[in-house]
Amino acid sequence: MHCPLCGASGAEFFHRDGQREYLRCVDCQLVYVPPRYFLDLESERAEYSLHENDPADEGYRGFLSRLATPLMERLPGNARGLDFGCGPGPALVAMLREAGHDVSRYDPFFFPDRTPLSRRYDFITATEVVEHLHRPGEELERLWAMLRPGGWLGIMTKLVIDANAFAGWHYKNDLTHVSFFSRDTWTWWGECRDARPVFVGNDVILLRRER
Ligand SMILES: [Zn+2]
Repeated sequence: MHCPLCGASGAEFFHRDGQREYLRCVDCQLVYVPPRYFLDLESERAEYSLHENDPADEGYRGFLSRLATPLMERLPGNARGLDFGCGPGPALVAMLREAGHDVSRYDPFFFPDRTPLSRRYDFITATEVVEHLHRPGEELERLWAMLRPGGWLGIMTKLVIDANAFAGWHYKNDLTHVSFFSRDTWTWWGECRDARPVFVGNDVILLRRER
């Protein structure tokens, strides 16, 4: 078993519940489930269709502003961005466009045109995305490569605290959630790219690509 983020082969048992087993990478500290627990595409799509992310929903906008506000404080005017994994009703795209930014969207299920993935950006957002990734190492590296020097990667995902908190964590019970990051994992990932993550609140991570 190789870590889906860093590729290391050393994994330790982390937790088991009624549904799945969870391992933790000894190198990057990613907590992940073995591939035998991955859902098939149709079950995943059905689950994502239930996610509420209507652009007109004020509560959802408030939730997204936890990422949008600190990110926009760091962006120049008229920046060019991508919302990766925007879901069926891309509310964050609408918010960033209203602020004057030029935002593309991509979602493998709902906006599958891959043209936006061949461009470069001043910022890329991925809200409630990385916990779903079967191959987070590959996908995050691809996003990083799409950033211009000085560009920002903005992530929203809930963070692993420790094994005790994990045991009672509702976040792990969603069967589409397969990759669980901690602050240590993001720090490791940033160090590999000369980037120091900025943590905002409990679930927002900003990383700047220097060059
Ligand atoms: Zn790892």
